[in-house]
Amino acid sequence: MSDFNQNQQVSNSTDCPNIPKQAVQEKLLTREAIVGEHLIIRRALPHRQRRMIGAWCFLDHFGPVTLKHHSEFSIGPHPHIGLQTFTYLFKGTILHRDSLGYEQIIMPGAVNLMTAGNGIAHSEESVVTEPMELHGLQLWIALPDQYRQITADFNHYEQLPTVELNGFSIEILAGNFLNQTAATKIYSPLMSAIFACNDLAETEVALNPAFEYGLLVCQGEVFLAEEKVVPGELIYLGQHRKNLKLKASKDSKFLLLGGELFQEEILLWWNFVARTEQEIITALADWHSNRRFGTVPNARDAALTAPIFKPK
Ligand code: MN
Repeated sequence: MSDFNQNQQVSNSTDCPNIPKQAVQEKLLTREAIVGEHLIIRRALPHRQRRMIGAWCFLDHFGPVTLKHHSEFSIGPHPHIGLQTFTYLFKGTILHRDSLGYEQIIMPGAVNLMTAGNGIAHSEESVVTEPMELHGLQLWIALPDQYRQITADFNHYEQLPTVELNGFSIEILAGNFLNQTAATKIYSPLMSAIFACNDLAETEVALNPAFEYGLLVCQGEVFLAEEKVVPGELIYLGQHRKNLKLKASKDSKFLLLGGELFQEEILLWWNFVARTEQEIITALADWHSNRRFGTVPNARDAALTAPIFKPK
């Protein structure tokens, strides 16, 4: 994904409320944007009240929507630095292409993980030969300082560990959860998992008290301590939780994500995660001058033009 907002402001990871010292349950509303004719994207992170959850610094929930033509979801080549893009689909397919030469179709249940490091460009295209339902998530993970200049890489994980628990099917996408460890290559202590149930389900899961957590409902209804949560709502759960009681209505799907507090101050602007404004200015100049990021072979659409950078 790419941030399509043309009026980009630098998002600073430390200008949000202090991290609560205890478990909390804060409801944050996602912001909706329409891409193309009718593709709804709900942006949960960064949020004015919560910039990050662990190293997770960006969270988009898109669809469900029926695409009739590939132009309805097509993001031309654009650059990234200092982060990993983490893509998961509930329905449909997306074709990833990048400047390293990788071309990968992602299907539901798999993860596409692109490590931008010092710089990469990619495109994301739907492949629509007949009407296709598209529903998924894209997250970005900020790379810690010691890893943020590493050489770019791309990995596809077709199958991830799944645990069946009290009516929930739980797929562990990153880190360790329920005694399962996902193979996805990450650079700081964090986790994410997708919960899905066919019927009304209720369970309790153990959490890591050293992590902060959040929960995003993607379909159906989830009940947390009797509070109903629906799509478009992110619940910030704070730290110091040993467990979490969950209840969900039938056909629900939700994301649980967590991680150790990310102690470094990051600057997020457009598709870049940096530490200083000068790094953003340099990356932007490199993109406009066709340096550093390479080109994406066979991309369907033209490369994206960056918004104008306005220092804070
Ligand atoms: Mn992208």
